[in-house]
Amino acid sequence: MKHLSRREAAQIIENMEGNILITSHKNPDGDAIGSCLGWLNFLRKLKNNVKVILHDQVPYFFDFLPNVNKIGNNHNINEQFDWVIILDVSEVKRTGFECIPAKHSLIIDHHITANPDSNFSIIEPKIASTCELSLEIMKLIGENLIDYTVALPLYTGIVTDTGSFGYNSTTPKTLKNAAFLLERDINPYTVIKNLFERNRITRIELLKKVLDTLDFGLNKKVAHITLYKRFLSETGAGIEESEGFITYPRSIEGVEVAVFFKEFEEDRWKVSLRSKGKLNVAKIASLFGGGGHIMAAGFEYINGGNLEDLKRELFDIILKFSNQ
Ligand code: 5GP
Ligand code: MN
Repeated sequence: MKHLSRREAAQIIENMEGNILITSHKNPDGDAIGSCLGWLNFLRKLKNNVKVILHDQVPYFFDFLPNVNKIGNNHNINEQFDWVIILDVSEVKRTGFECIPAKHSLIIDHHITANPDSNFSIIEPKIASTCELSLEIMKLIGENLIDYTVALPLYTGIVTDTGSFGYNSTTPKTLKNAAFLLERDINPYTVIKNLFERNRITRIELLKKVLDTLDFGLNKKVAHITLYKRFLSETGAGIEESEGFITYPRSIEGVEVAVFFKEFEEDRWKVSLRSKGKLNVAKIASLFGGGGHIMAAGFEYINGGNLEDLKRELFDIILKFSNQ
């Protein structure tokens, strides 16, 4: 495995031959989808055979992105590829695919817990999003290729991963890069309106049920919410419609860590963690086999334990970390 500089990554991408697959992590978020579509729309100008396949469905609020309908959804990759570009994730198992049949692989990621399994990788934990890192690499390949169809998805991923330019991961360079993208005719409200201002009623019904589970731990330093699988059938919402719910427990005064427990199968939980800066949730998540960033991380709890066991284990660990 070779770690690449931006220039080396640009060169490898320029020289890629054959059929190329682009993919990202399970439950794709704005950065995952934005970087996949940014690269798809960019590389289609240079290569003949580029495809995006994701394991999970793209949430409906990303349907305004150019070529979003070209994203394939499949639980397996049945074709042999010459190259795979894996975005916003470093571990193949987190793509959801058992294996990815490709001769060569390149990972572009920004997770501090990254543990890449590929031939080549470029991982920059200091950069706010994979979209921003992708933009930096694209500029080295050809600025003129970055048109509206490339800029819009990249801008979208930058907005979502920086909390609309609110998190500390937002640097002066992030804003300069955002300005560069806006110069390609992007209207910032198009992005905000599509992402945040067309909630479906099903999502609000789901939010009502999930907020009803709000509870606290560790002297109200931890706030947690829970999505039981039955809530989905009761409301008609898809699990992806719960994206962003964790901002509610996080927003409470005095709360240091917010936790969102999502039941994806009986006694199988997807756990999201958010910190306000005092605790490193990436470290906590990695103790459960997950990972992420210092202030946003997650893991899957699939060892057959029930929610009460999971809470006890997790709160013990949070308590240990908060006493350090
Ligand atoms: P979310 O809670 O929104 O699913 O994820 C927050 C952050 O943690 C994202 O950067 C995401 O990629 C990372 N993350 C979430 N779940 C996992 C996991 O199971 N394993 C790893 N390595 N990272 C995760
Ligand atoms: Mn990201």
